[in-house]
Amino acid sequence: MEALQAVRGMNDILPDQVGWWQKVEKTAREVLENFGYREIRTPVAEKLELFARSIGESTDIVEKEMYSFQDRNGDFLALRPEATASVVRAYIQHNLQADPILQKFYAVGPMFRHERPQKGRYRQFHQIDAEVFGIDSPMIDAEIMHMLHLFLERLGVSGIMLNINTLGCPECRKTYRKVLQDYLIAAGDDFCPDCLRRRVTNPLRVFDCKVERCKALITGAPAIMDSIDDECRAHFDAVRGYLTRLGTPFVINPRMVRGLDYYMRTTFEVVTDRLGSQNAIGGGGRYNGLVKDLGGPDVAGIGFAIGMERLILLLQQDQTEPARAAQVFVAALGEAAGARGFLLVQELRDRGIEAEMDYEGRSLKSQMRRADKTGARYVLILGEDELNRGEIQLRDMREKTQKNLPLDGVVGEMLELSERS
Ligand code: AMP
Repeated sequence: MEALQAVRGMNDILPDQVGWWQKVEKTAREVLENFGYREIRTPVAEKLELFARSIGESTDIVEKEMYSFQDRNGDFLALRPEATASVVRAYIQHNLQADPILQKFYAVGPMFRHERPQKGRYRQFHQIDAEVFGIDSPMIDAEIMHMLHLFLERLGVSGIMLNINTLGCPECRKTYRKVLQDYLIAAGDDFCPDCLRRRVTNPLRVFDCKVERCKALITGAPAIMDSIDDECRAHFDAVRGYLTRLGTPFVINPRMVRGLDYYMRTTFEVVTDRLGSQNAIGGGGRYNGLVKDLGGPDVAGIGFAIGMERLILLLQQDQTEPARAAQVFVAALGEAAGARGFLLVQELRDRGIEAEMDYEGRSLKSQMRRADKTGARYVLILGEDELNRGEIQLRDMREKTQKNLPLDGVVGEMLELSERS
């Protein structure tokens, strides 16, 4: 029978890769928790309407990429393509704005978009997502980008740059929309069919187009920065000022509009030139108004998402895989020693020491080979002779030393050694 394969664009993460994922997640948790963020876990499926209403009907994500389906009750659902909409939904549903302190959240998990798979672009991918509610101050815009930068620095990522821009408020967007639309109409009808439609329905989305001739047609388009009002400009200037004072490097990229409709004022993206065309590692922005639009209170919001696959691809260019090794391998020879060795392994684990053994009664040579493969620092060898004498042989694989220990004192000795190493 033909063996089944995973769904195209959805990958297994095998044990030899998982060290990267654990490292990234652990670092993210440490940094985010340090900044006052608390974890939230929402379902992978939501009502389709949630994404259509928040991300925007005429975005690529909603128009082309969503895993949407009707369940057995006939309800229209979708696998989440991003996390913000779900976090906002949960925030409203559980009345989380009532908590005077906890207004910063993070989420880690899989997202789903039906894109054309290639290196750095998958149909199931993973994001680390951060969201803050109720703070309108430019301090939080700067802080969240500073935190993102610190996280990447702590991981040892190099070759990245933080791009920032402002999209103004909905009023500025209205002004800009008209200016941009006029420009796009004057630019002629050479745009792709999508852009011909977008310039009428949602002109900003033309900036997301990947078609070369569209990109060429908009090189001279007016920047949104020139259409923003005094208040939005002051906010942006303050954000830049704080970032500079925090020592977080950034560049202003007036062309960056991001592919989601809900952003306003500050938007940002971390990009790299080391991953070919999939150059965005993470991005986010402010979304005041979104919580209200989804039926909640009128509170400010800002957040970002980092793509874990791309981040790990980048890490793998510079670093070796985080090693994971058992501390102790117990090699026992013969039936009686095997049984005693089995109990010893469990006892070591009970005491918090990572231990492994060979359950199949293989030769000493083959057990030593296995011990080596597991990367164990210590090997405990128990033969019939040792067992009769009430002893066990301890080999330190790094120091290349060995000595005999009393069998009933070995757990204590291993505890001491593991505390020291
Ligand atoms: P977005 O929500 O589109 O701003 O995406 C945020 C980050 O998620 C991007 O910067 C990427 O790192 C990552 N990302 C988005 N789509 C994909 C995908 N299809 N495959 C892998 N990573 C993705």
